[in-house]
Amino acid sequence: MPDKLATSFMRSLCMGQIEQDVIFPFPTLKNDQKEILHEVADALDSLLGPREEDFREWDVAGEMPAEFIQELREFGLFGLIIPEAYGGMALGNMAYSRTLQEVGRYDASVAVTIGAHSSIGMRGLLLFGSEEQKSRYLPELATGEMIAAFCLTEAGAGSDAAAIKTTAVKNGDHWILNGSKLWITNGGMASFYTVFARTGEKDGRGKMTAFIVTSDMQGVSFGPHEDKMGLRASSTTTVNLDEVSVPAENVLGEVGKGFKVAMQVLNSGRTGLGGGSVGGMKRLIGLATKQANERRTFGQPIASYGLIKEKVGRMIIDCYTSEAVVSMVGGLIDGGYEEYAVEAAISKVYATECLSHTADEALQIAGGNGFMREYPYERIVRDSRINRIFEGTNEILRLFIALTAMNDVASQLKELSASMKDVLNDPIKGFGVLSDYARKHAQLRTGIGGTAKFQNLHPAIQASAESFENETRYLAQATDRILRKHGKNIIGKQFATKRLAEIMIDLFVLACTLSRVQASIDANGVEKAAKEIDILQMFTREAQVRMKQNFRRIDNNDDEPLKALAEDAFEVERFRWDTI
Ligand SMILES: Cc1cc2nc3c(=O)[nH]c(=O)nc-3n(C[C@H](O)[C@H](O)[C@H](O)COP(=O)(O)OP(=O)(O)OC[C@H]3O[C@@H](n4cnc5c(N)ncnc54)[C@H](O)[C@@H]3O)c2cc1C
Repeated sequence: MPDKLATSFMRSLCMGQIEQDVIFPFPTLKNDQKEILHEVADALDSLLGPREEDFREWDVAGEMPAEFIQELREFGLFGLIIPEAYGGMALGNMAYSRTLQEVGRYDASVAVTIGAHSSIGMRGLLLFGSEEQKSRYLPELATGEMIAAFCLTEAGAGSDAAAIKTTAVKNGDHWILNGSKLWITNGGMASFYTVFARTGEKDGRGKMTAFIVTSDMQGVSFGPHEDKMGLRASSTTTVNLDEVSVPAENVLGEVGKGFKVAMQVLNSGRTGLGGGSVGGMKRLIGLATKQANERRTFGQPIASYGLIKEKVGRMIIDCYTSEAVVSMVGGLIDGGYEEYAVEAAISKVYATECLSHTADEALQIAGGNGFMREYPYERIVRDSRINRIFEGTNEILRLFIALTAMNDVASQLKELSASMKDVLNDPIKGFGVLSDYARKHAQLRTGIGGTAKFQNLHPAIQASAESFENETRYLAQATDRILRKHGKNIIGKQFATKRLAEIMIDLFVLACTLSRVQASIDANGVEKAAKEIDILQMFTREAQVRMKQNFRRIDNNDDEPLKALAEDAFEVERFRWDTI
């Protein structure tokens, strides 16, 4: 019996196994967390609600005033995830993500200031810090006396984080840090930095270590505020380290294991960004529906037109399904699951892309007003654009999602071929040793012996569950087919990898939405859940079309001519067919 908490729903799914227990019942907040959340939401309403005009001005000015940061401190917004013993609110991942949702409804710069502190800035200390380190820093981080920043990116190292050049050289009981970190959120106001530096070489690349650096250490400085497209009021600066002497007791985690620290911080912080994206979508739905009711053309409110209804309906499906996925990942983390990196990556990619689409369509519904700075739409479009770039670009996360699945399957394929040899040599013994994977894949590939199924779902959502089960077969077949086709060369086959990631994203979103709708039926009855069932069914049908298309395109595609077009353009660095 596999350890439940070590199970990843998506990684199991790639093996043809539906681990229903992992995602059912849909996670809910505990009563004590709900109570705190209500209080936080009310406080945020009174703090941020009357500030719309300020947020607009701060966006133009490119800065948030220090007095406002002080108000955030006084509201306890820097202590959200810090244990009560250190003066924080001890919110779990779900409640934290929900809080960022509430903040994200008002202003993305505020959400990212709080998020960079809790989601990434000090999370390494919570996850990897020693008791001594926690007692030393958490109380001041909880009050916001210390604001935290996460310092990984450099000019030559963004997605390729292992290429960092900042060095840390041991000198007695200190490490001497030298280097420059780029685009650090909260860089200009933080006093607690989680800094990643090279402490050795591994295959010619940086073997890194995480350090706690504080602004009072000699040689720490930061650059001017960056002039950005969006999130203009949030602080983004370089952070420079010039011969900074850091005591050895400030190493976070183990020496040489900094990459693991960075990845784990980013994984567990992803629901913050997801929550902010859902909050943004909820706000946009409010704005767009009001706008559509008020604006009249040809003697009628534009809300009466099919093309406007289509956009708003789409926004609702995107928001509902995104919230299902983000809450699910928060619930998995709170439930103690250890393997949630693929699911967290899916939640980030999906929610941030739904927000981008929703923001663009809300601006379109507002027409010319949407383009004017007087209205909030253009700012939301600008603010939301970064979500697809930072905390792991959506391209890199797609590769990560699919390659993790393929890595699992590839290792099982090796087992499969060993088992098949046994089958041929000694059929009776051989069938006995056929691994789970081999058996399930034989079933999935042939359809004989049935496929994995959901159990005990309400009949009203059974059709969506069956689609999920059928499309799971595509996932298993697609993974197998891509691996057999490309073998070890798969790393360079990004078109194929992306298709697999898209199928996985659709399947996980569908699974989380099934779970959410089942919970709603259980709580409110099938009639009250009718619209949610409609959302599920519409999403299912659209996802099915996309998955079938992605599956078909594995073998029948334009990958080669498309690549050739790009390669030709890289050579000439211009568009070839100008008409004058
Ligand atoms: C406003 C803002 C705030 C930020 N805050 C922080 C912070 O607090 N801390 C911090 O450490 N960093 C921060 N960053 C940096 C951010 O995390 C990086 O910008 C991000 O990781 C991408 O790195 P890059 O910009 O170097 O892009 P690159 O890595 O150069 O990527 C460029 C493009 O190539 C694609 N790409 C790269 N490699 C591959 C590949 N192997 N296959 C396919 N496509 C690929 C990328 O997806 C992207 O589209 C921030 C950035 C901004 C703009």
